[in-house]
Amino acid sequence: MKKILVTGGLGFIGSHICVSLIEKNYSICIIDSLINSSEDNLLSIKKICNLSNNFLEDRITFFKGDIKNKRFLKHIFKKAIDDKKPIEAVIHLAGLKSVNESTEEPLTYWETNVVGTLNLLEAMQIYNCKNIVFSSSATIYRPTINELLTENSDLGPISPYGTTKLTIEKMLEDLAKSKKNDLNIINLRYFNPVGAHISGLLGENPKGKPNNLFPILLKVASGEYKKLSIFGADWPTHDGTCIRDYIHVMDLAEAHISALNFILNSSSVFINLNIGTGIGKSVLEVVETFMKVNKCEFEYSFVSRRQGDSPYLVADNRLALSTLNWKPQKSLNDMCIDAWKWKITSKNKFK
Ligand code: UDP
Repeated sequence: MKKILVTGGLGFIGSHICVSLIEKNYSICIIDSLINSSEDNLLSIKKICNLSNNFLEDRITFFKGDIKNKRFLKHIFKKAIDDKKPIEAVIHLAGLKSVNESTEEPLTYWETNVVGTLNLLEAMQIYNCKNIVFSSSATIYRPTINELLTENSDLGPISPYGTTKLTIEKMLEDLAKSKKNDLNIINLRYFNPVGAHISGLLGENPKGKPNNLFPILLKVASGEYKKLSIFGADWPTHDGTCIRDYIHVMDLAEAHISALNFILNSSSVFINLNIGTGIGKSVLEVVETFMKVNKCEFEYSFVSRRQGDSPYLVADNRLALSTLNWKPQKSLNDMCIDAWKWKITSKNKFK
């Protein structure tokens, strides 16, 4: 059974990936600082995967810690070797992810995302771990209008968050070029991951005030917020609201498994892949779909554009489809239904 390190493994995306990894018979080691996630997710992962206590140790271990801490990272790799179960690959998700916050605290973003990744890569080098799937982002592209983004589209992030993601990609590219290291690297450029695990036990639960559409939508639909503000009705799109490529978090998780299988069976690979559905939906379409499939109604109004938004961000995902032998399975309906199920379940749980 191959052992995979998942950094940030208890976050929204990480926890769903952990479920997929266990289902595919990997053994996982999770590290997470818990600054934007909760240890409850560990219980949910175990529950979903039906892991009985006897086998837990073999399948899933968790260490609380920060990728800014080099000693901590080295300890994880060394311990795995000492236990005769070395880490064969890393899925690297740990990092800060708020576009807004990154404009206010750029150095914090550079330190956690860039320095944290540097620490991780150093530890991997010392302990001879050669495989990494990195969680990158579509925010590294220069905004365009009505054009699908390919992996060769112009780069030009407009936030410090996006710049840190691009910087990490460059760092990985330099490593890939240095023959001595012989690494396998896949950068997955996520579009807009939303939805939740179908069980209702895992989903997106940001600490503090949410900034993204789905977590806000869930608060509005559940009555926690009075109404949804839609940022801009005057964008150059068919209904005036911004268009995004929303992808179900379980489809995204499956993309990681495919990427992992790919690098574990390759040598000296460096690939960038867009992970989206290739289908754009406007904010209004998301709102209407959500109300329809969940049979609920809520108030919304149009306000001025949000700074830093771009009208259209949709993936050309053909390279991912052909390289990974992967295909997103879930529709916007599924994303809305599963997200709402998660909201209802978690609301009851924390009552
Ligand atoms: N959005 C909105 N109201 C909100 C939050 C988001 O209209 O309260 C819009 C936002 O302007 C963007 C889309 O929803 O067009 C997706 O935003 P999100 O922050 O989820 O992701 P982004 O694509 O900006 O990373």
